[in-house]
Amino acid sequence: MGKMMCPGQDTAFWRPGDIYEVPCSQCGHELEFFKDDVSRRCLGCGARVQNPKLNLGCAQWCEHAKQCLGYDPKEVMLSEGDDTTLVDKLIAGLKAQLAGDQEGVSRGLVFLENAKEVLKRRGPQELDPKVVLAAALLGGLSPQGAREVMDQAGLPWEAADRVEALLRGEDTASQEALVRDDAVRLAEPPDPAAMATAAGRELARALSARLGA
Ligand SMILES: [Zn+2]
Repeated sequence: MGKMMCPGQDTAFWRPGDIYEVPCSQCGHELEFFKDDVSRRCLGCGARVQNPKLNLGCAQWCEHAKQCLGYDPKEVMLSEGDDTTLVDKLIAGLKAQLAGDQEGVSRGLVFLENAKEVLKRRGPQELDPKVVLAAALLGGLSPQGAREVMDQAGLPWEAADRVEALLRGEDTASQEALVRDDAVRLAEPPDPAAMATAAGRELARALSARLGA
């Protein structure tokens, strides 16, 4: 059984205008925003685009927001800044390694965004978000190529070791590996039954409901 969510945050109660498209200021690619997204990565070029109409609704003031969403929207807004520089560097490294393979870059960006969505719903407990994000973004590179990108971006070596183990298939059971797997599966037509984490199932269910509507 899924946990109860207040109607203000349950996407089933959202109106059509709560999801909208905004063009990327760098490349013009259309980005789809949910009204509670702080920012999104452009899947065309990787630039971070702020949500021009951010609306956290009742979660802004509700004392139960953390239990309801599984994360505190105020904390996420603050922490978004820290990871941004690192992720920007990882994206730059991925682009350099893939040299002109725009499809490969976009695939990495899709997995990165999916991973962020799963993390957002799951909360950061008991895992290292950096490992999840780097593994999702760099999964299309060889483990050595990914290592180069991570070292250049300044990812702590403990985290880089864990990403490498994940990309080599030596780690398939950690929380980081499960969230990364869900991020990849969410790029397929989403099947809630195939997801490894509760947050992944929740997202897949929301996505298939939207696709079916
Ligand atoms: Zn763009």
